[in-house]
Amino acid sequence: MWNKEVETLPRDKMEEIQLERLKDTVKRVYENVPFYRNRLDEAGVSPDNIKSLDDIRRIPFTVKDDLRENYPFGMFAAPMKDIVRIHASSGTTGKPTTVGYTKADLELWSECVARIIAMAGGTCEDIAQIAFGYGLFTGAFGLHYGLEKIGAAVIPMSSGNTEKQIMIMKDYQSTILVSTPSYAMHMVEVMEELGVKKSELNLKIGLFGAEGSTEEMRAQLEKRWGILATENYGMSELIGPGVSGECVHKTGMHINEDYFIPEIIDPDTGEVLKDGETGELVITTIGKQGIPLLRYRTKDITYLIKEPCPCGRTTTRMAKIQGRSDDMLIIRGVNVFPSQVESVLLGIEHISPHYQLIVEREGFIDKLKVVVELEDSSLLESFAQLEKLEETIKHKLHTVLGLSAKVELAEPRTIERFTGKAKRVIDLRK
Ligand code: ADP
Ligand code: ZN
Repeated sequence: MWNKEVETLPRDKMEEIQLERLKDTVKRVYENVPFYRNRLDEAGVSPDNIKSLDDIRRIPFTVKDDLRENYPFGMFAAPMKDIVRIHASSGTTGKPTTVGYTKADLELWSECVARIIAMAGGTCEDIAQIAFGYGLFTGAFGLHYGLEKIGAAVIPMSSGNTEKQIMIMKDYQSTILVSTPSYAMHMVEVMEELGVKKSELNLKIGLFGAEGSTEEMRAQLEKRWGILATENYGMSELIGPGVSGECVHKTGMHINEDYFIPEIIDPDTGEVLKDGETGELVITTIGKQGIPLLRYRTKDITYLIKEPCPCGRTTTRMAKIQGRSDDMLIIRGVNVFPSQVESVLLGIEHISPHYQLIVEREGFIDKLKVVVELEDSSLLESFAQLEKLEETIKHKLHTVLGLSAKVELAEPRTIERFTGKAKRVIDLRK
């Protein structure tokens, strides 16, 4: 463990730290961020009202639009002279939001990421290839500093140039790959096409994040690369990667709770749900200085796990993200998460792990089309086989989604590949 003392704290001790830091954070934003002072005044909450962890519920939520309205630096709680780094969200959903880090924040961030790397089995012996794009996006820098902190040798490849990635991976004998799961999937295809065998590589651990993926996708990544594929979670507003990560037991992502207080709410009513119930993840940052956020609505759907983990860590875990409430498609009144489609498709033979969902409206009726890529072109020669495959996919999708979708089989290698976050949904209804 990177920080055994903190990661194995008994619950009451962890809560003591959380309460102390929550009080400090509320005070800090009340005094330094006009937005928060107004918000808290309106809600009739002053920093002195925070006496127990439950008092967090008196604090109003913060949402992405609050950051947009205070773009670029209005939410900063530290003066610019103390800010040493600026990042922004990758802009998956609209105008980007900006975040700033003080020196202490960078230290805290590296600590959080180091814990996550160590959890997945990374050590100072590792050679880590970072295939996240370096830039405003937090992914690459976050992992970079965390890896250096544990003493691993970092190869700052950035994303893209996939053939070169494979060459470097082989020549340098990289042991850790950092990327999105979708890019890792693309990379392994390129590796296979180049005729490079996984036995010629020395890859052992995948640290995948920045987007979701299903267990089916993980299984394929593990098999094709011959690695342990772990997942971690974060977002720029909260810090970047480092909020939570999986240990080698893959029992959910351990949250760095001494810096992030998690809650799960009903996204419609805002009501706080019980442990184990699925809803929207809300996080309060309790260590950051540059831009602390109170009860930030992540829009990511998950649930919390409090049962002990075989690794010995006592921190609360979060289950795989089922999707963003933003990505949830409502098709003819039925809620559909792209992850449900992925888990169906990846269990079917003869098709590749690349797909696209296209939603259209004909008249007043929503239509879902799932474009699926064939694994090899030999199937194209048999109409009967194609028809059978299409029927199988349709049937399985119907069973899981509870709705019928049109299935289109595309030729091998025709669906777009991604080097960062995959964009798999095209909603033409808007
Ligand atoms: P943007 O909101 O522009 O994509 P970020 O780059 O900060 O900004 O991405 C944060 C988002 O990435 C999260 O809210 C979440 O939806 C997604 N994400 C990050 N890690 C994971 C993960 N392990 N599983 C699912 N989604 C993830
Ligand atoms: Zn564990």
